[in-house]
Amino acid sequence: MMSKMRFVDLHCDTVACEVYRSCGKKNLRSNDCHLDLLRMREGGSLLQCFALYIPTPAHDAATGEEIGPWEYFEKTADCFDAEMAKNADLITQVRCYADIEKNIAEGKMSAMLTVEDGVPLEGKLERLDAMYARGVRLITLTWNHENSLGFPNKTAPDKGLKPFGIEALARMNELGIIADSSHMSDAGFWDLVKYSKKPFVASHSDAKALCNIYRNLTDDMLRALASKGGVTGLNFEADFLVEGAKYTRVEDLVRHARHIADVAGVETVALGSDFDGISSTLEFKDCAGLPMLEEGLNKAFTAREVDLITHGNALRVIKDCIG
Ligand SMILES: [Zn+2]
Repeated sequence: MMSKMRFVDLHCDTVACEVYRSCGKKNLRSNDCHLDLLRMREGGSLLQCFALYIPTPAHDAATGEEIGPWEYFEKTADCFDAEMAKNADLITQVRCYADIEKNIAEGKMSAMLTVEDGVPLEGKLERLDAMYARGVRLITLTWNHENSLGFPNKTAPDKGLKPFGIEALARMNELGIIADSSHMSDAGFWDLVKYSKKPFVASHSDAKALCNIYRNLTDDMLRALASKGGVTGLNFEADFLVEGAKYTRVEDLVRHARHIADVAGVETVALGSDFDGISSTLEFKDCAGLPMLEEGLNKAFTAREVDLITHGNALRVIKDCIG
């Protein structure tokens, strides 16, 4: 039976890391990964952000050749478009908030195209417009490598946005592309606080006070994110929740949600599963298991607050930013 559509997930890697790389062996409708469309529907998905993860240097799945990151973006975006065309009975790509409302009214799930790692921009502002035209509505500014926008937290936490990064952010604010600080340097995060004219997100990061790894946010960062009207998406990776853990437990995700809510307000908590980008096994298995996470949240939050965490907060930011 189809359950009520209520989960908004700010990040998964399924399209580029599984479907594209399998060279036609895996599809988005039904597969053996963390996430597919049939299980999303079963679990109660309302909107899924599909990230095109762009490796540095880009490496084409079909040919094994190294190709430019822009070409890699175009190929993975073609893969996303083909999956959307084949599955229009279940899901439709959204380009503005009204598209989401239309899908809800028609009982269809929504797909938002995102890019993980701004490396395809290569210092060219006009490429942002080209990405926007293809429907990209969120860009994770860096992954774990330096690019034309800035630096990763893994190796250069103290280096901020580059001048092109600041310029690109302004253009993203104008166009309606959400800036995402996950993976980016701490100094880059603070530059987003300083320069972004719109709310921004950490699409898949947890609380550093509970698990001290470079991918998580300090309490000061969580408060700053809240002051900008942004959210952080709870990442389901076990060792982002508990140092050294390999198994993702609902109670650990709820503990992070509770901490973020206590420090920065419940309006700052969202979901950013990182499905098909994470290596841990999960207590609730896959995207069809999200109602089990919701049950856990119900024990620590009011019904209104659970609605904010599962979809309300993320939809607010999407509406504020993409228009
Ligand atoms: Zn990531």
